[in-house]
Amino acid sequence: AEEVGGGDKEVVKEYFNNSGFQRWRKIYGETDDVNKVQLDIRIGHSKTVENVMKMLTDEGPLQGVTVCDAGCGTGCLSIPLAKEGAIVSASDISAAMVAEAEKQAKEELFTSKNELSPAPVMPKFEVNDLESLDGKYDTVVCLDVLIHYPQSKADAMIAHLASLAENRLILSFAPKTFYYDLLKRVGELFPGPSKATRAYLHAEADVERALQKVGWRIRKKGLITTQFYFAKLVEAVPA
Ligand code: SAM
Repeated sequence: AEEVGGGDKEVVKEYFNNSGFQRWRKIYGETDDVNKVQLDIRIGHSKTVENVMKMLTDEGPLQGVTVCDAGCGTGCLSIPLAKEGAIVSASDISAAMVAEAEKQAKEELFTSKNELSPAPVMPKFEVNDLESLDGKYDTVVCLDVLIHYPQSKADAMIAHLASLAENRLILSFAPKTFYYDLLKRVGELFPGPSKATRAYLHAEADVERALQKVGWRIRKKGLITTQFYFAKLVEAVPA
């Protein structure tokens, strides 16, 4: 069922600036004040980040490579990318998320206990919804954002991200195969008043078709699952 009137994006933005920000900052952080479900999601998500870093570095060093991190959240991917020397452009629809990412990047990249060599380039952080992004990047990455897009909007979103990428596009999404299982858990992912935020699952075939329509093909795939976290990871390249 699709949102009547299509106010999804505003709802998502409001959520990730408020209760969603509080919740996901904890999940994506390192503090102990998480429950079992949140801890499980934290572990699953960090595996996704690890997999992406491996996919990217397997193709060669990231030093000087331009990367767009669309929907960057608290910077879980942007920061390790910068540590590898990538030139990162990170953006998110939520100003709260962007501020947190920027704060964490400063702490992690430029403290004296972390003297990285060569010195990393501070990611360029920006509050922006991904439809408004422009420019060209070697690589575009968009992790765990498609869950906020119904399939009817996902095609255009994927096409837009592909248009920004010169060599690679990496996407993660909640696969539709786990549909019923996940439905039961949506309540745990988005508790309380934020239940208004829907979780959309995507069939791999639909994502693949969206990529093919704009001349891209899937080169690598991965599946990351824990008890409460499911992500399909795809790396696409121009066909
Ligand atoms: N990519 C990050 C990561 O994996 O650590 C964050 C994932 S979090 C589940 C989803 C993020 O997508 C939130 O920070 C949210 O604000 C952002 N988001 C949702 N819709 C967006 C849109 N249309 N444009 C930009 N960011 C969006």
